[in-house]
Amino acid sequence: MDEFAFINQVKQSVYRQSSLVKGVGDDAAVFRQTAQDVITAVDTLVEGVHFSRKVMDPFHIGFRSLAANVSDIAAMGAVPAFYLVSIVIPESYSDRDLDGIYQGLSSAASAHHMDLIGGDTVSGGELSIAVTAIGFVKKEKARYRSVAQPGDILFVTGTLGDSAAGFHMLNSNGYYTDRAHYEDRHRMPQIRSHFAGQLESLNRVALNDISDGIANEANEIADASQVTLTIEEERIPVRTSFAQFTAEQQHNWKLYGGEDFELLGSVSEREWDVLSTIAERTQTPLTKIGYVSSSEEKNNRVILIDRTDKSTQLLKKGYTHRSR
Ligand code: ADP
Ligand code: MG
Repeated sequence: MDEFAFINQVKQSVYRQSSLVKGVGDDAAVFRQTAQDVITAVDTLVEGVHFSRKVMDPFHIGFRSLAANVSDIAAMGAVPAFYLVSIVIPESYSDRDLDGIYQGLSSAASAHHMDLIGGDTVSGGELSIAVTAIGFVKKEKARYRSVAQPGDILFVTGTLGDSAAGFHMLNSNGYYTDRAHYEDRHRMPQIRSHFAGQLESLNRVALNDISDGIANEANEIADASQVTLTIEEERIPVRTSFAQFTAEQQHNWKLYGGEDFELLGSVSEREWDVLSTIAERTQTPLTKIGYVSSSEEKNNRVILIDRTDKSTQLLKKGYTHRSR
């Protein structure tokens, strides 16, 4: 297929966003904003580095690449609206594969009411797909990871470790229960966009999406906010069938397994009830997992308290029990 035909095929026939003035078809897209702050994020997926075709169909590659961006927009407390796709296409990808990628993209887009407003198409050695997402938030209501304060409650949405468990299953022939759920969580992550978009009524909330594992994201909040976070391991929410995995797998996947795309955040005790109400209204599982305290001598850390009340420092990366 030539580039012109390809662009025509991926072009939406109808747009969803009322602020769009010009979509695909000119040198650039145009949308109009007067009242809100504009939020942007970009994310690149490269075959062999970020995914393998052994476990990801073209549909999943497309779906996941937009989902990762929607997650960043959600983690800013914003609502996604538009996306652009820059794609490097190798010879080994057929028209059908490309179609699958764009079906995955448009499936994720429709779930979040987003419009494809542009992109770039080039051929190259391996598949690489860079998605740029644009969202909106009420003025001054973008949510930063730097605003956690001592006394806050630490919370997380959904369950953790599912995506890593799904990845494990996709690469193994063993017998597992609940396989479809875990594999879906890895290949088609569902983003807490609806919940994030309702947080405007809160005075203050620190937010971060869990793309690299909670250990990593918690340290980012601690560093950005200059505080200490304490997480009680037993409170970290996991799915019931997560018990089928070994203790080591559970530990590693819930703390360091990335790509769950849940939200980690902190709010004041005073605003906890407001947050709970928003979670209920948007049918978002919400769990208190710990608290925020002040750091001694700027030593911003994340402390993990285990079942036996033992506390250890949770480091950004890596497995605590073995070196990689
Ligand atoms: P230009 O040379 O002006 O960049 P292109 O031929 O690259 O023109 O793009 C023409 C139109 O198609 C533009 O609106 C562009 O944003 C859109 N477009 C190009 N490639 C893609 C793609 N892979 N996905 C979505 N839109 C695309
Ligand atoms: Mg171009």
